[in-house]
Amino acid sequence: MTHAPVTAADLEQAIRNVPDFPQPGIQFKDITPLLADARLLSGAIDLMTAGFQPGDVDAVVGIDARGFIFAAAAAVKLRAGFVPVRKKGKLPFKTHEQSYTLEYGSNTIAVHTDAVQPGSRILLLDDLLATGGTAAAATQLLQRIGAKILQVGFLIELRFLNGRDRLSNVPVISQITY
Ligand code: AMP
Repeated sequence: MTHAPVTAADLEQAIRNVPDFPQPGIQFKDITPLLADARLLSGAIDLMTAGFQPGDVDAVVGIDARGFIFAAAAAVKLRAGFVPVRKKGKLPFKTHEQSYTLEYGSNTIAVHTDAVQPGSRILLLDDLLATGGTAAAATQLLQRIGAKILQVGFLIELRFLNGRDRLSNVPVISQITY
């Protein structure tokens, strides 16, 4: 096992493209080969937390479901709390909710009312930025509570979908772009 720092190119080599999943026309970016590789997993967390030190962030918020993987690991590294943003109906306690429109229909995400305080410094993470609908809704939800979003980070960005345009009021970082 090499000790050279992990680069975004190393990470990209471990992303598996699965055509027509979960429906025809979608090329699914499967991150499980990256997650299964100890060096790449820890390198991905290092890259996604770059620029932050313990004490800089109060909570790392992860978006249901693959965002949890990166957010929980980043929270441990930054000695911050971890907060899940989930699809409506999954969290057991009182929640703040935010709805957003999809190509067909709409979706609602939720966060526990006691999970994030006004003024909390937040790093928001997910695995992939596509149209940006999910991340924009999570950003609005956290900003409505009065949290301060320091950065929104993704492992992968599908740039041709222009999701970044929906996140214009927060700093956005992604490691791998297609
Ligand atoms: P969006 O709201 O369109 O930015 O979609 C982002 C969410 O959908 C992320 O949480 C991703 O996990 C998932 N997602 C969207 N497109 C893909 C894709 N091509 N491959 C893997 N996951 C995807």
